[in-house]
Amino acid sequence: MSEQTKKFFAVAIDGPAGAGKSTIARRVAEEFGFLYVDTGAIYRAFGYHMDMYGLSPKDVDGITRLIGDVTIDIKHVDGLQRMFLSGVDVTEEIRTPRISAIASTISALPVVRSYLLDMQRDLAKSNNVVMDGRDIGTVVLRGANVKIFLTADVEVRAQRRLDELLAKGEKVTLKMVLIDMKARDEQDTNRRHSPLRCARDGVMVNTTDMNLEESIAAISKIISEKR
Ligand code: C5P
Repeated sequence: MSEQTKKFFAVAIDGPAGAGKSTIARRVAEEFGFLYVDTGAIYRAFGYHMDMYGLSPKDVDGITRLIGDVTIDIKHVDGLQRMFLSGVDVTEEIRTPRISAIASTISALPVVRSYLLDMQRDLAKSNNVVMDGRDIGTVVLRGANVKIFLTADVEVRAQRRLDELLAKGEKVTLKMVLIDMKARDEQDTNRRHSPLRCARDGVMVNTTDMNLEESIAAISKIISEKR
């Protein structure tokens, strides 16, 4: 038996930063009435906690010591996922470029990945889900009914992420976002544990030449065919 019960339907969407995973996954989840789970936010919340304690993301011993102290909760409010650290809502605070880089570094640590694994799997045990991340189809929900690997050219992804950050008032340039994105791609793809890659039974979708609505339609079609 796989890690999820047969009762619930699971859609795994993996891919690099800026491929549009979260926007597309959220919209598709809404369309099918599934719970949307953004697993990147879990790594971000954890990274934010470590940063608050002044720990370097490379301080494996310090992170291992602190790991049991953190209480991470995911709550869904009107279909939107909110992240809580020891009861405090940090949903907005975890969205900075600093926390992106920290999340990417700490997520390479096996101790962090295994600690966060059950939290992700538990959500799929009691809900139909659309879950996005880097290793959902390959590790977290290996038995997912639909596995999608969403990607786009790095320049296109950087421009999309820049637009998002500027809209939030962050002071960033395309060059900064591109450097950050390439570093994260490199880190996420080449790490030893749960590297970013398309599952063997996954469907690759490249959104470089698609707008948001076209991307959503493409993913919905793939899900409908299996539903
Ligand atoms: O998806 P998002 O960009 O918010 O994820 C932040 C970081 O968390 C990623 O760069 C990646 O290193 C890590 N992550 C991961 N596995 C996941 C989701 C995110 O390693 N399932």
